[in-house]
Amino acid sequence: MQQVVLSSDILTQACLQDQGTAAVQTLFELARNKTVTLWTHPHAVTEGCARLQASPEMNPAQRMAELLEIVHLLPAPGVQLKQALALIQEHPQMSAADLPFLLSAAAAREYLEEFLFVGLEAGRAFPGGNVHSPEDCLDLLNGQIDTGPIPFVDLRTQQHDILPALESNVFQVIKSCRFILGPEVEKLEKRLAEYVQIEHAISCSSGTEALVLALLSLDIGPKDAVFTTPFTFIATAGAICQVGATPVFVDIDPRTFNLDPVQLETAILALARGDANHPLPRDAAGLTPRAVLTVDLFGLPADHQRIQNIAAKYGLVVIEDAAQAFGGEERGSKACTLGEIGCTSFFPAKPLGAYGEGGACFTRNSALAETMRSIRVHGQGTSRYEHARLGTNARLDSLQAAILLAKMHVFPAELARRADAATAYTRLLSQVKALKTPIVPDGFASAWAQYSLLARDKAHRDACQGALREQGIPTMIYYPIPLHLQRVFMPLGYSPGDFPETEQVSQKIFSLPMHPYLSSRTQERIAAILRNVNAS
Ligand SMILES: *Cc1c(COP(=O)(O)O)cnc(C)c1O
Repeated sequence: MQQVVLSSDILTQACLQDQGTAAVQTLFELARNKTVTLWTHPHAVTEGCARLQASPEMNPAQRMAELLEIVHLLPAPGVQLKQALALIQEHPQMSAADLPFLLSAAAAREYLEEFLFVGLEAGRAFPGGNVHSPEDCLDLLNGQIDTGPIPFVDLRTQQHDILPALESNVFQVIKSCRFILGPEVEKLEKRLAEYVQIEHAISCSSGTEALVLALLSLDIGPKDAVFTTPFTFIATAGAICQVGATPVFVDIDPRTFNLDPVQLETAILALARGDANHPLPRDAAGLTPRAVLTVDLFGLPADHQRIQNIAAKYGLVVIEDAAQAFGGEERGSKACTLGEIGCTSFFPAKPLGAYGEGGACFTRNSALAETMRSIRVHGQGTSRYEHARLGTNARLDSLQAAILLAKMHVFPAELARRADAATAYTRLLSQVKALKTPIVPDGFASAWAQYSLLARDKAHRDACQGALREQGIPTMIYYPIPLHLQRVFMPLGYSPGDFPETEQVSQKIFSLPMHPYLSSRTQERIAAILRNVNAS
């Protein structure tokens, strides 16, 4: 998206002439369509308001407030004001009247990577650029719209939209000096629990730690078996091993990429009877089956209703790895609430991402919630230096909570935009016979962490990725090596061919750029490139 910075004289003119000249009105229209982002500096607004006082018939504060519904405010750190004042003192040709201009230019240069500065004094220079007239700006934009690099995940546009809330929330934390598990963390936990509709949300330092907290609170450890999918991020099985338990892999349903309930029952029975109907890890004979760790891959919940029935039949507890699925749904229940404990991640690129590490566990069970809260802070007992059990340090810090709180406001709207983007991809790609677009079964909703599709075979996937790469469009492969074939899990003794569905999917799958701010123009470009890839 193109960034345009407006000077105070443009703002003033826009107020006086009901959004200004034709060119300025066009700029506002482009901003409403989210084709460009308009910015200005708080000091430019102040200056504009002061000028408008000379026009008594209008209410300057009200008119400016209306404009600021569309125009974003640049961050205004105090240090820039000091630098600008120093600059004026050093340069006799500048005066205090130049302050709003200097500050706008400095803030734009520091915060926005590339931008066009629009003002009535076209041609006026500032370090790193010069002022364009609104008409010139439109000409320049015409040639540039949607030509910039296409990010795989766009965190910047979201940041631009929620900047005031981010600034205010982060400042509250700085001011409070309560940096770890502060009031923001409590507030966030409440909001998260409300959102997914569950009794307890326990925030923690990452999605990986969330899985560890869940396993530890259920007292799962050495000699315990945890059934899980080999088609997931390493952290799922890594957490099982970290607590000393053994992952028992179960193949996926290739339509949803999630754990196959039919295979799950076969695996449980094979482990119980010691038969060869299902590949088992080495030393399976000594293992006690304890849990099923489901994964809601790419944002789509696993089939928890069927998995829960099977787990209950054999006395196993279900833990849900919803690291990619915050916001997803199964039969009217939100992801994170679909097992005894649900775990999610706030890694920046996940659907709800922090600006650092973070995660959370969810449960209806008060005793488990209390145990997880204790393990999160070194197994704390009833007071700080009394310890009930072995724990770890897995706390969330207040700054991450403050950022997540700001993002929670836009999260439902973003989720809807992701769903729209997914629908658009599927519509655009449905005629491409060699590609298999992802499905969402009836009664389910995906959080669309990724839009992953299947090529005809490995060669076709290479061709698709190559064609997109040539046009500057990034793609990813989640996941190229199934977990049972990873070097780290060689001691488990699995071999190629053990989980054929997973192995086949891993050869054919790839993911397209996916985020709430994907433009339809970009999606059309991507689809057009894929349509032209030869699948023979
Ligand atoms: C990202 C992810 C995790 C780990 O979350 P972190 O916050 O990065 O520790 C676990 N499981 C799955 C399926 C993930 O995608």
